[in-house]
Amino acid sequence: MSPRRSRRLTPFDRGGNRGSSRPVGGFAPGIDRVEEWPDGDWRVRPVTGAEGGKVYRCPGCDQEIRSGLPHLVSWPAWPGGEDERRHWHTACWRNRVKRGPGRSRY
Ligand SMILES: [Zn+2]
Repeated sequence: MSPRRSRRLTPFDRGGNRGSSRPVGGFAPGIDRVEEWPDGDWRVRPVTGAEGGKVYRCPGCDQEIRSGLPHLVSWPAWPGGEDERRHWHTACWRNRVKRGPGRSRY
């Protein structure tokens, strides 16, 4: 009947339907986005905090981020920035650049 069909395999077909999100920079899958700030581009990843277990300290307000509290992780979007990951309260991250009025150091 039909001759052997050549299977078209694109690089994107491998692995089947495992969802469309790909890890960026070798991290576990998550929804990263890059935000532009006056001090550069930052990668931001919302986390649910549902994993629990760990308590982080928010550099914005110097308060602890309790486990189970949705917050976000950010790090500079330039090479090597992954080592600078910080956990922030979402609101603190938003207000980050407002902390110092008139700041202009870049
Ligand atoms: Zn905070």
